[in-house]
Parts: sequence; structure tokens; C-alpha cells
Amino acid sequence: KVETETKDLVQMDKDHLWHAMHRYNEKASPMIAAEGKGSWFTDTKGDQYLDGVSGLWCLNLGHGRQEIAQAAYEQMMNLSYFPLTLSHKPAIELSSKISELLKGSYTTFFSNSGSEANETAFKIARQYHSQNGNPGKYKFISRYRAYHGNTFAALSATAQANRRVKYDPAVPGFLHVPPPYSYRSPFGENVENSDLLAAEYIDQVINFEGSETVAGVILEPFISGGGVLIPSKEYLTRVAEICKKHDVLLIVDEVVSGFGRTGKMFGFMHSEGVQPDIVTMAKGLTSGYLPLGATAVNSKIYENFKENGKLNHFRHVSTYGGHPASCAVALKNIEIIENEEIVKRVSELSESTLSELYELTALNKVGEVRGIGFLYGIELVEDKKSKTPVSDEFMGSVIGACKEKGLIIGRNGDTVPGYGNVLIIAPPLSSTVEDLHFVIETVKAVLHELC
Ligand code: PMP
Repeated sequence: KVETETKDLVQMDKDHLWHAMHRYNEKASPMIAAEGKGSWFTDTKGDQYLDGVSGLWCLNLGHGRQEIAQAAYEQMMNLSYFPLTLSHKPAIELSSKISELLKGSYTTFFSNSGSEANETAFKIARQYHSQNGNPGKYKFISRYRAYHGNTFAALSATAQANRRVKYDPAVPGFLHVPPPYSYRSPFGENVENSDLLAAEYIDQVINFEGSETVAGVILEPFISGGGVLIPSKEYLTRVAEICKKHDVLLIVDEVVSGFGRTGKMFGFMHSEGVQPDIVTMAKGLTSGYLPLGATAVNSKIYENFKENGKLNHFRHVSTYGGHPASCAVALKNIEIIENEEIVKRVSELSESTLSELYELTALNKVGEVRGIGFLYGIELVEDKKSKTPVSDEFMGSVIGACKEKGLIIGRNGDTVPGYGNVLIIAPPLSSTVEDLHFVIETVKAVLHELC
């Protein structure tokens, strides 16, 4: 029975379900998830896998947290929907909690996804400068390799050629700068302080463009999807200073790094003196249980939307943004993260995980191992000297071998044509010590065999 059911599902999947990133792949056997518990899920064939990428880096507390499901249920029964043109309690409480967690005074606009959270940030930033007497400040700067979303402005900030090629022209006013990437420094081989040079480059671009034309810089504290790039802590501190100097808003995309993924509540908190003007959040905000996006702005920006005691209109509305059930889920998610000291746990456990993964650099084809918290990247190369990226087929064989052993891991895709050579590992933050051990041992076994 299971077999016929799976066969029917496979056929329907093939005929009607359009998958993200690729069409139905005739060769690969599709994996149809059936149920999950903790860091593990079972497919319709009954095979079990550890989800080493937390879905799409969102399932931070794993499957099946009853308290979260209960919070959604109770909220749906109590007040099923209400728009934020007016107000409701879960959104009020969540906005206040977010402000507390960000350790500043922030006001939050809710949406449904990370892309929308970034779109909202861009609109707020342009309106802010315009209301502040600087209507010419409209440009945004982001880094090559960065991903910021699938909608047009978020995609325009996404500086990954292969994601853009069929959809350009992008929204005008988005500029791209080199990422902090010391392994392949855009500033040359063996250059010292490559990260800081990347920060100074932003200063240069703002100078060349004219600071009176630049609205904001958007960045992730640690580039995740673009290959797990972990700059020195000074990088973000320096970028924040540069932004301040030019009256350019610092927009920090915490969609992946937020809520504990990097071993701090927010990624920007690793860098001294950084208090972003705008913080965007999604994924980890609800640990993937329901969709929710959030754009938190500091009081400097929010005050600017008040005029003569009246709120200047932000002409932006989202029917489902800040859905009561999503907000209730986010509140419960944050409560669990705090009560179970998940962030501290991630920070502590990451040390031993990372040191085990670093050992893999002894292998010929392991160019570099990078990571922070529960976010790891392993860059595979043909040989250490040339640093030539391994082929797509090779990446496929590594990921396939892990899958054979019951571990799902990801890769950065070809964010830069020909450079889809970074394995990505980001297990749920609630993974048990045994789960982590399984992840490490599986990756080690596969890489020792193939690299
Ligand atoms: N920013 C970052 C850093 C992301 O990784 C993503 C999603 N992968 C987004 C924004 C967009 O989020 P969503 O898919 O929820 O629109």
C-alpha cells in the first residue's frame, strides 16, 4: 500500500507541483516528506533522515513541538484573523519582545516572509530619507554572493548572477560590492585584512556615488546561502561606522542568522558597537512553524514617520503580515529559545563541532571549513593550490552519499557561475548531542571516502 501511495504521489508531484529551483528531476528519486520528530523526518517510503539544513535554515527547534502547535491552535480558536491596520495582542506583545531582544528601541512592521521583510525595509529607508529632506538618497548597496529574497527589489539586492539572469533588468538603484571572503579575496592572493578592505570598499563606493544618493547598505552578518562567509568581527563594526558617517542606513538581514543560529540571539551582536537602523527577520522568528516576516526600525526612523503628532503614512499594507497565529507561534518560539537557553547551547556546542569539522581541512579536496554557531560551510576544491572548484557532479556525489547514510545537507548552488562548491550544514538548534555526532560522523565518513 505504501508503495502504490508513493507512486501516485510521485506522479501527481511530477504533473502538478512546481518545485523551487528546479523542475521535476526524472533521474533523482523524489523525496516526499511524511512526518517529522525533532531533527529527523521520515519520507513516504519510510526512510528516516536527519535534516542537516533545518529545512531551509528555518526549522530551528525541530519538528513536533507541541507547545508551538498549541499556541497556534489556541490563537486560531480565539481570534482567527485580524488586520494590522488595527491591532491585536499577539502582534503588540511580539513587537515589544523583538525590541527587547534587539537591545534598543525598535518598532516592527510585520509581513509574511524574509523577502517581504527586506522589501519593506527598502521602502521605509527611501521614505525616511525623503521625509528627512534627502529625496535623492535612493540607492542600496549589497554584497556579491548575498541572497536577500525572490521579489524584485530583494532580488535586485541579491547579487548572484544565476538567480538574476532571466529576470533582469533589476530595480534601478541597487549596487553590489565585494563580499568579505578571505579564502578567495577579491583584493588578491594572500592579502592581509581582506575583510577590512571589503568594508573600506563600501566607503569608496559611497564616496564615488555621492553619499547624497545612497539610502542604505543591506547585509547579512554572515553570508549564509552565498557560501557561508564568516568575516572577522571587525568587518561589521567598520561597515556600521561607514554607514553612520554617510547618513546611510544599516539594514541587517537576520533572516537566517537571527534567533540563535550563530550562537548569539542576533548575528550582528558578535560585532562591537553595532546597533542596526533596520533589522529584518523571518525563518527563525517562528522556527518555520508558520510564515512571518518582520522589519524592525530604530526610533530615529520611526520618529521620522511622525509629523505634528500624526503618523506619516507608510503606504504599505500586508493582509496576512503579523497574522495573530503567526505572532502567537513566534512568541512561543522565543519563549522556548529563552527557557531552554538555546542560544547559549548553540554557542557552547558549536566549539567542539567546529573543531571536528576543521580537521577535515587535512583532506586534499577540502579547501576551507568555515562556521559559526550551527552554521557551517565546507568549500571543496580540486586541489588546495589551484583552488579550482569541484564539479557539480562531485558536489552531487557528496550530498548523495550523505543522503544514502540518512543525512540531508545542502550546498550553495551556483551563486556565482561555476562556484557551487560549498557544502552547507545547519542542523536544528535543538539537535541533541547524538544528532550532532551523527551529522559530524556522517560528513567525515563521506568526505574521507571521496576527498
Ligand atoms: N534573506 C536571507 C538571508 C535568506 O536566506 C532568505 C531566504 N533563503 C531571504 C532573505 C528570503 O526569505 P523568504 O524565502 O522567506 O522570502
